[in-house]
Amino acid sequence: MKCSQGQNFSKGNITTYGNIDISPCSAILNYGQGLFEGLKAYRSADGRILLFRPEENARRMQMGAERMLMPSPSIEQFVDAVKQTVLANKHWVPPPGKGSLYIRPLLIGSGSVLGVGPAPEFTFLIFVSPVGSYHKDKKFLNLVVEDKSHRAFPGGTGGVKSVINYSPTIKAVAQAKDKGFSDIIFLDSTTKKNIEELSACNIFIVKGNAISTPGINGTILPGITRKSIIDLALDFGYQVEERDIPVEELIDADEVFCTGTAVVVTPVGSITHQGIRTEYKIGAEAVYQKLHATLTGIQTGRIEDKMGWTLEVDGR
Ligand code: PMP
Repeated sequence: MKCSQGQNFSKGNITTYGNIDISPCSAILNYGQGLFEGLKAYRSADGRILLFRPEENARRMQMGAERMLMPSPSIEQFVDAVKQTVLANKHWVPPPGKGSLYIRPLLIGSGSVLGVGPAPEFTFLIFVSPVGSYHKDKKFLNLVVEDKSHRAFPGGTGGVKSVINYSPTIKAVAQAKDKGFSDIIFLDSTTKKNIEELSACNIFIVKGNAISTPGINGTILPGITRKSIIDLALDFGYQVEERDIPVEELIDADEVFCTGTAVVVTPVGSITHQGIRTEYKIGAEAVYQKLHATLTGIQTGRIEDKMGWTLEVDGR
């Protein structure tokens, strides 16, 4: 789907996967004027194809488009385009228990511009790929706290899903992986004292009956899984706190887990900070287990969707 500055997106079409033509002078290539989204389609045991809260992705893209001075598809256009793309690829939606179809919508400044400024033309496109578990067969994550580089800063774009948020993390994450860690916990760039999130997921800590996660402050991505886990935790009767979490609190936590479309809900086995490693027990009674079972149950149609979060794509 294409659109000029100040106009609305017109109806798009489905084409075979392949390279796209783009001007060397485009705003996306030169100035990073682009956003993306990520969501999944799951197949239920009775053969239905279910999307998880796609209108939330549409809303987040609209919020990001405003920040990046881009027009965005309407909520209806976004959700319909996702549905049509999944339908056209329904044979790629894995059977229950064998993964999901990852859906990647992109909104880019595809028009040419010389000199920093918005593109005159924009492209919205979606591609899909079947995926298994994000961290391969790892049952838990071994994380390291990064205190030299940051992924976001106040007034920047950390709170929206801009493509430019990911490039500052590439080197630090690659170096952490070389040392055997699964990912990094980034700290806030102002006080350098509070945890923010990982390179592509949000973080929660559990202490007794309280579940805490960093509050949405403009530098953390408002994850849709994060929001859903908060609602489920409240429903289970946990006390949920969205607040600043000093890095030292990680040491005393009973449990730490991460949330995101890709990682779903994944427990943390250890965190290394300034050379000191803290390990976490991951028992069958862990809080994350309950939240994981409920969330994945809803996403795959095994558990009644009381929240109205799933949207069926009619494509048996
Ligand atoms: N933080 C970052 C930086 C991310 O890239 C993602 C993945 N979209 C998340 C958090 C989790 O967001 P969601 O639950 O919507 O996938």
